[in-house]
Amino acid sequence: MPAGVYGHLSTARSPEGTPQFIVEADGAHIVDVDGNRYLDVMCGFGTNLLGYRHPDIDRAFTTQLGAADAMTGASPLSVELAEGYCTQVAHADWALFCKNGGDATSIALLTARAHRNRTKVLVAAGSYHGASTWSTPVPAGTLPVERGHFLPFAYNDPDSLRAAAAEAGDELAGIFVTPFRHDLGVPQELPDPDFARTARELCDEHDALLVLDDVRAGFRLARESSWHHLGVEPDVSCWGKSLANGHGLSAVMGNDRARAAAASIFVTGSFWHAAAPMAAALATLEVLRTTDYLEHLERLGDRLRTGLAAAAGRHGLALSQTGPVQMPLVMLLGDDGAPDQPRTRRFVSALMDRGVYFHPSHNMFLNAAMTEADIDGAVTAADEAFALVAAG
Ligand SMILES: *Cc1c(COP(=O)(O)O)cnc(C)c1O
Repeated sequence: MPAGVYGHLSTARSPEGTPQFIVEADGAHIVDVDGNRYLDVMCGFGTNLLGYRHPDIDRAFTTQLGAADAMTGASPLSVELAEGYCTQVAHADWALFCKNGGDATSIALLTARAHRNRTKVLVAAGSYHGASTWSTPVPAGTLPVERGHFLPFAYNDPDSLRAAAAEAGDELAGIFVTPFRHDLGVPQELPDPDFARTARELCDEHDALLVLDDVRAGFRLARESSWHHLGVEPDVSCWGKSLANGHGLSAVMGNDRARAAAASIFVTGSFWHAAAPMAAALATLEVLRTTDYLEHLERLGDRLRTGLAAAAGRHGLALSQTGPVQMPLVMLLGDDGAPDQPRTRRFVSALMDRGVYFHPSHNMFLNAAMTEADIDGAVTAADEAFALVAAG
């Protein structure tokens, strides 16, 4: 590996003491190659929603492996799964499957441009939509022309959205947006309903497609697409990460308006039709429909947020806790009131030493296998870590 462990798991991007190699995962915990056990508050950067090695989901996966996985031909499970999502998700009239979130966002991009054969796409400055040539946050190896037709807007700012749409004019193909602002290293922002409605209205006025990138938040905030509660439905949504609770699957869903464009583009991948992850996704969908996983995540998230705030207060530290409680970003603030990364990294390293895996600049993820005792243990560890940071 030219740079060692790469991408979001790279050593360079991790605070000191972050374990690099994991050998076991079960429920809410991971065990590293040295035998250290952690409460995993990153959940595979969001791939895990219901707990590692969920018995029903992993049984569905291995049972399907016993029959067929990647084959010369699609599995009927793909039809069952598409029907399942179209029943579950209000705007979905169709679904297609791929492997990674970046596949899904790239398919959405092609679909938006193919819809009325236009070029310009609006993307929030600083939003992450994957690591393809058009989306990677690190431009090495890419050409400026590959980003030439993206126009930035400021998340939650309807005026900047209107200005960008005006600039795109007749060439507006679509608007890409994440359900809330979950950019790296800055406080997260929940969506302003007026901003969400403006995005919808602009797409309607321009006959462009509204693309909701639900890859990270999908099914963590709702048993629906993540703007459903705002009354705003996208034309196309992108899903991935936790869709099959740790098995490789992502999806694009869309409405009838976007169907012809989605049918016109050529997209494929050697493993996209693999059946075992689809069996896992069907089992995951069943758990989402029939359990209180979501309410459990919200209760745990509230408990963590309240516990951390009290612990930081005891040590006189100012803490920023933002985003949905089940996808928290926790950062220590400096004397100027801005997030203090060096301090936050010290805090996170001290937590790692105490068997709690946190992240200093990326939102974290709770999973439904966590218990109140796990959360209380994390708060106790944080109390000790805050004491160390406060002592300097
Ligand atoms: C992770 C992520 C992606 C990319 O997904 P991959 O599976 O890493 O390709 C796209 N959009 C958002 C919002 C993400 O969080």
